[in-house]
Amino acid sequence: MPLIIIVVIAFAVVLVLGVGVGLATRSRGSRTLQGPAHDRAVDRPGQAPQAPASTEEALQAPPPSEEPAALEGPAVLEGEVELEAFERPVLRERLGKARRLLGGYLDSIRGRTVDDSTFDELEEALLLADAGVATTTKVLDDLRDKVRTGEVERTPEGLLTALRADLEAIFEGDRPELVLGDGEGPTVWLFVGVNGVGKTTTIGKVAARERDEGRTVVLAAADTFRAAAGEQLETWAERAGASLIRGAEGADPSSVIFDAVAHAAAKHADLVLADTAGRLHTKVNLMEELRKVRRIAERPPGQLTEVLLVLDATTGQNGLIQAKQFTEAVGVSGIVLTKLDGTAKGGVVLAIRSELGLPIKLVGVGESALDLVEFDPSEFVAALFG
Ligand code: GDP
Repeated sequence: MPLIIIVVIAFAVVLVLGVGVGLATRSRGSRTLQGPAHDRAVDRPGQAPQAPASTEEALQAPPPSEEPAALEGPAVLEGEVELEAFERPVLRERLGKARRLLGGYLDSIRGRTVDDSTFDELEEALLLADAGVATTTKVLDDLRDKVRTGEVERTPEGLLTALRADLEAIFEGDRPELVLGDGEGPTVWLFVGVNGVGKTTTIGKVAARERDEGRTVVLAAADTFRAAAGEQLETWAERAGASLIRGAEGADPSSVIFDAVAHAAAKHADLVLADTAGRLHTKVNLMEELRKVRRIAERPPGQLTEVLLVLDATTGQNGLIQAKQFTEAVGVSGIVLTKLDGTAKGGVVLAIRSELGLPIKLVGVGESALDLVEFDPSEFVAALFG
């Protein structure tokens, strides 16, 4: 074979091999760029992210690296399948911090003789859990009397059983259900409270819950003072499948409520959930504004059946002061206590109920749409006792 032909064949072989290796390398490179399989699923346009199978799973799921808004807990409410999966969180699991504190003390008195130091320890436990001096003193004085008269057995078990019953009795007669109007027009629930306590988040959670119950919901963004509040509520409205009525920044909040009720009535919606401003709760003008908002919310066709004061459990006894001010200004029908998941101060529930006489209606135990629990005294006390 002439040398020239051998050279041409050798060149062709090298060329073919080179192209093959090059292609293989490029295709490996593009696989790496695509990332792991679950990332690709997120990128696929029009495909909803996979909802966690349960609330527990939703909480434990690692934070997504891309498009967090589309993957966070509340997104599980989008679409029918997810709404069917609406699951109630287990209070006991969420009250870990409070339970460890109180349960630890209660465990330590078991198996010992009951004497003055037992009562001292119970007192310390209740005060640390933020049950407040007045409530703690009242409950323990009552317990001491019962032990003295023999009504309660002088044993740790006797004492703990009686304490549990006394704490549950604080909530006797309360009904946690939010009341729906029985007339023609839409029911209105007004949410009040200082900034940052979790009003907007609670409204989002309630909207999701009510949608899950099959009700049509209109959100009223009457906190026209903070532009961000309206945007936040808009996100929740989208997640929960509710409509939203917003006013221009600085607009009169009562006009937003008026428009929201009119819109709900025209569309035959069941419920209006109204957010309100929470700045400067000590200032007279905000309270005046809230009174006006209330007056408008009461006007037909709206039926105002709940004014819910949202309180942050982590602020403990401060909540009591806020509750007194809001109650005097607008009248409050019930309390929503948020952030109970992140605090050992769960005992503040006891102080609020016994000192204000206001029922605890709902409890917030996390940031996702599912993290809302209807308050049940025996479940709550059992969760605290461990
Ligand atoms: P607003 O100013 O009263 O409307 O308060 P937001 O609704 O904006 O809530 C303030 C912060 O508290 C946000 O970061 C919420 O995610 C958070 N938050 C609200 N409720 C809860 C709850 O029950 N548990 C926890 N851990 N965080 C909450």
